Formats: sequence, C-alpha cells, structure tokens
Amino acid sequence: MKTIGLIGGMSWESTVTYYQVINETIRRELGGLHSARILISSIDFAPVADAQEAGDWDFCSSVMARAAMDLKKGGADFILIGANTMHLCYEDVRKAGLPVLHIAEATVNRLEKDHIHTVGLLGTKFTMCMDFYKNVILEKGIDVLIPENDIDTVNSIIYDELCQGILREESKKELQRIISNLMDEGAEGVILGCTELGLLISQQDCEIPVYDTTLIHGEEAALLSLK
Ligand code: GLU
Repeated sequence: MKTIGLIGGMSWESTVTYYQVINETIRRELGGLHSARILISSIDFAPVADAQEAGDWDFCSSVMARAAMDLKKGGADFILIGANTMHLCYEDVRKAGLPVLHIAEATVNRLEKDHIHTVGLLGTKFTMCMDFYKNVILEKGIDVLIPENDIDTVNSIIYDELCQGILREESKKELQRIISNLMDEGAEGVILGCTELGLLISQQDCEIPVYDTTLIHGEEAALLSLK
C-alpha cells in the first residue's frame, strides 16, 4: 500500500472528512482491520485565508510548497491538496517532485462517466470566478454554470460558517435554492467544489446528481494507494 500525503487544515473541518472517507474506502476494498497509510501536514488556515483575500498567492504557494516537502520527507508517495481553492497552488506543490492527485480531474472523470454535459459549480469565489478550476472541466467539453447572483452568499457560507464548524439550516436552504436555480438554467448535476460544502448538503437534499469533491477526491486517493 502506498502512503498518501494529505495537505490538510484548509479547513480542518474537511480534513476530518478526508481522513474518514480514505479509511472507509480502504476498509471497503481490503476488509477487516485494514486502514490507510496516510500522513497529514495540517496548516494554520487563518494566515492563508487572509493571504487569499489579499490576493497574495505567493504566500499561499510558499505554505503549500513547504507542506508538500514535509510530506515528501516523511515518506509520502503522492500528494492530495485537501481543498479546491488551494489547487491554485497546484504547480508549486508539484515542485516537491511527487505526483499530485488533482481534485478537479478526479471529479471531471465522474462527470464524464455519468455523461454530464452541463454542470453547476459551487465553491469559494476564487473557485467559481477564476479560471484555474473551471478550465479543467471545460477542457473536457463540459459547460460550467456558476450562481452569478449568489457568489457572495456561497462564499460567506463557506468561510464564515462551514470552515468555522457552524452548520445553519437557513444556509442549507439557501444552497438548495441556488442549486435549484442552476438546475433551471440547465445544470444536469452540481459540483460541491469546496471541501466543506458536504458538511451541510448532500445528495438527499438535491434533485440533480451531486458531485461532492471531498468524497470523490478521498475515495480516488485511497484507490490509487492500492494500485
Ligand atoms: N476548503 C475550501 C475549498 O475546497 C475552501 C477553503 C479554502 O480556501 O481552501 O475550496
């Protein structure tokens, strides 16, 4: 079994989910007392979130590059960036010299399998508005819809609530309304393109297929560790 190196803490609320889904997948595949070989380098998210807001991606990249080097030194065989937004630093993480399992690539494979042609994307304002993430999906010929009028609402639910462990029923209803609007605009499925969104909303709350990036990324990492 290969050793998974997870850069976590972005926020740690979703790192908990990663740890769980990776181990559940290993148990499902190998049974009994088997569990994942996993190293977590967990960063302090506050200064990183401040740097994101200030557009200081160099700072974010330096934190991520250091975490990647620590994982390499610890013996990780490949790396997961445990957040969608921080894939903005993907190239700098790759400089550590280990393979990096891209969260959007893992997700887009599922969309292709399900023959999705138009997908809604929810995430931070960076993930929804910048090109680094959407391009991975568009390159596969899949159209991406974002909630143009609700970008701040989704962003604030993520940073002011979910990343701080706050789960509000009203926010869940807001997300359901936003997903329903995307469906009316033609979305055949929706990507929970933020690793905390699944803490509040899941398939049972939605009428269209839900692609939870934390679950997909974690499961694919566990399967990769067994190859
Ligand atoms: N974990 C979130 C994501 O998947 C948001 C926090 C961050 O900016 O990393 O994008």
